[in-house]
Amino acid sequence: MALLSIDEATARIQALAVPLEPETSALSHAAGRVLAADVACDRDQPPFDRAMMDGFAVSSADGVGPLRVVGIVPAGGAYDAVVAGGEAVRIMTGAPVPAGTDAVQMFENTTWDDDHVTLTAPVRPGENVARRGSELREGAVAVPSGARLTSARLGLLWSVGAATVQVVRAPRLAILSTGDELVELADRPGPSQIRDSNRGVSGDLCRRAGAEVVLERRVADDPSATRSAIADALDQVDVLVLTGGVSAGDFDVVGQCLRAEGVEVVFHKVDIRPGKPLWFGHRGAQLVFGLPGNPVSSAVVARVFLVPALRRLAGAQRPHDPRVLLPLRAPFRGTGDRPTYQPAIAELGVGVTLLRTGGSGDLPGFASANALAILPARHPDFDAGSDIEVMIDAEALLG
Ligand code: AMP
Ligand code: MG
Repeated sequence: MALLSIDEATARIQALAVPLEPETSALSHAAGRVLAADVACDRDQPPFDRAMMDGFAVSSADGVGPLRVVGIVPAGGAYDAVVAGGEAVRIMTGAPVPAGTDAVQMFENTTWDDDHVTLTAPVRPGENVARRGSELREGAVAVPSGARLTSARLGLLWSVGAATVQVVRAPRLAILSTGDELVELADRPGPSQIRDSNRGVSGDLCRRAGAEVVLERRVADDPSATRSAIADALDQVDVLVLTGGVSAGDFDVVGQCLRAEGVEVVFHKVDIRPGKPLWFGHRGAQLVFGLPGNPVSSAVVARVFLVPALRRLAGAQRPHDPRVLLPLRAPFRGTGDRPTYQPAIAELGVGVTLLRTGGSGDLPGFASANALAILPARHPDFDAGSDIEVMIDAEALLG
């Protein structure tokens, strides 16, 4: 039987990853969340005709002067009288432009003494003035439902006084690491034991995708222990992630235990390298991912399938990592029978180097990459300069 394609697996997962319900959040805790309701502007922006420069507020009809300086208005202040013809007011950036004036000439284009100012260049009506309501009108939508709260949008919400907002609830998630060989981070492994590194990778990926990890623990390769850990986790979470135990080994019991706990399998195995043994199912609205145990396989399928599902649950409209085409910096030989996510070093605008690593168990090799190159199945050898599709995690490019 043909293996399920990456696109088909993605479609089946995304069909079940429905955004969670809205909840109220303090704006101060809403960074990265997705807005679940429009937020309207509480007053015109700017709320008054705002000086955009430090200089003199004048009437453009007065020409270059000399004009009599009748006052000064700082940001946060106001000039209460109406400015008459032939007069000017010293004004600072962010201050309201006084009645009777219609432009601001910046200090650099003036000469002045204590009483008078002369403009070295005339001003146009409205020059250096942001008109009241010119950016946004009272009652207009400042940030729409569905928008992810970037820092700029957070700033806009602060400016309209939205102290609490409606956001899509963050998915609650559990990570169960299966494997008799695993020990905790702080424990000393015996001669045939290893530390549970998958939890480090998937925990970070899930949190960065917007999930709240509420439970993480190790589970022995034993059906009754696995079943009770699954049952306990499913009492608490929207998404259950297991690692290990989904291959064909004698002690790979995860699939049967999930089914016994009422989880319906959607697929087992995908046409991808690394990560073929991926198991995916659901129990009602709860999603369950059985990631392969091999550290690189686990990390790759978490990036490709789990992260976009979590972003979607958290309300993201475009949950997939960006892909770019980059020219290959050195030839790459070796064709695979499956679509392959190859660890790579990407330099945007320059090119990509594919890494020869030791395969799906080589976490050190994988950790030296900053991107994943996507190679089609049965691809030809790639020459230097060939355009390669690369999946980008902008944070990984930082160093
Ligand atoms: P499995 O998928 O359970 O057959 O495991 C495949 C390989 O991945 C074995 O070499 C395991 O020891 C290793 N492995 C499984 N789980 C983890 C984990 N949480 N951290 C690091 N390596 C793991
Ligand atoms: Mg195992």
